[in-house]
Amino acid sequence: MSGRAGARGEEVPLGDATIADVSGDYYELLGVSREATPDEMKKAYRRLARQLHPDANPDDPEAEAHFKEVSKAYAVLSDPEKRASYDRFGEEGVGAGFDPFGGQGFGSINDIFDMFFGGQSPFGGSAGGRGRPGGPPRGADQEVVATLTFEEAVFGAEMPISLRTALRCETCAGSGAAEGTSASTCGTCSGSGQVRQVRQSILGQMVTSGVCPECNGQGTVIPDPCLECSGEGRTISDEELEVRVPPGVNTGSTLRLTGRGAVGPRGGPPGDLYVHVQVQGHDRFQRDGDHLFSELEISLAQATLGVDIDFETLDGTEKLEIRAGTQPGEVLRLRGLGVTRLEGRGRGDLHISLRVLVPKRLPADQEQLIRELAEMRGESVKEPDEGFMSKIKSAFR
Ligand SMILES: [Zn+2]
Ligand SMILES: [Zn+2]
Repeated sequence: MSGRAGARGEEVPLGDATIADVSGDYYELLGVSREATPDEMKKAYRRLARQLHPDANPDDPEAEAHFKEVSKAYAVLSDPEKRASYDRFGEEGVGAGFDPFGGQGFGSINDIFDMFFGGQSPFGGSAGGRGRPGGPPRGADQEVVATLTFEEAVFGAEMPISLRTALRCETCAGSGAAEGTSASTCGTCSGSGQVRQVRQSILGQMVTSGVCPECNGQGTVIPDPCLECSGEGRTISDEELEVRVPPGVNTGSTLRLTGRGAVGPRGGPPGDLYVHVQVQGHDRFQRDGDHLFSELEISLAQATLGVDIDFETLDGTEKLEIRAGTQPGEVLRLRGLGVTRLEGRGRGDLHISLRVLVPKRLPADQEQLIRELAEMRGESVKEPDEGFMSKIKSAFR
């Protein structure tokens, strides 16, 4: 437990002047203004409790004393009646000697948070094996990133995924008990996984139920642990899976594979596996949602006179009919040759925009034909270069 608070890396070091000065004022202790809302106080207390709790500061009497003071301040100020009384009469108004823990010392940090926050530990649900009482906890969710080619995303694919995860221990079949032995009912909680504690506090008698410390809430204990998994019922292993990726996924899609995450300890149910999809680009196609976009270059003559062209779509060759008089930027739409709709029926379309290539340089004889065309059509064009006539002569020599 001691490493947990430190590992989160967000705490102010103890001894910091702002929190080490244990003065008497309850608002100052919590570091809030006298107008602080209940929510602000709750946040302040939660932050301080994480820093100061004895679990996070073993063998530090100063932190322990400070934690007690802060908890007392919060117990008073979080109760509207006590707060009003404290505001009018100060500490005398609430009884100076009062101990929010009923003289029973500290529970675990989860118990403290039970008292004040209804069981929501800032350390997350897995702290101390909290979960459904009387059963082994669920395993963690796992996440992996799968990189697909453009075509795999359009048509779907079977993807091999490898991940490091917790798998059921084969030696003990997940029970955690050595061969020939089995788990037995926990004597401390009679198998319920919960223990009830009664405390005297300023708010009256408080009954809290906490996780059984003996079995960590599981309701059973293993007298003779499996040697392979040390009683965990699971081992860390590399797993290879085939994931069926449906057609239509895109970068940012996440697939959830229920029950393919890490298995829980001692036969606990597995978490889920989340596969985050990343899709590679394509050199001829772009994608926007369900639609695909591509380009086709045609010549000036093809645009003018029309042509039939074979075009490679992702589905195979399609014969495109380019009409005579096609304009640059015109778009041909091939219905149903886009991307399969992930949620819904059918596929999007393939849009092919036509680029008409205007020649940048022409051999002299071809240039001459264009000039004649321009002349026939009465179009004015630039005069030929100095050397044009000699080029013409050499071309027709
Ligand atoms: Zn085992
Ligand atoms: Zn127990």
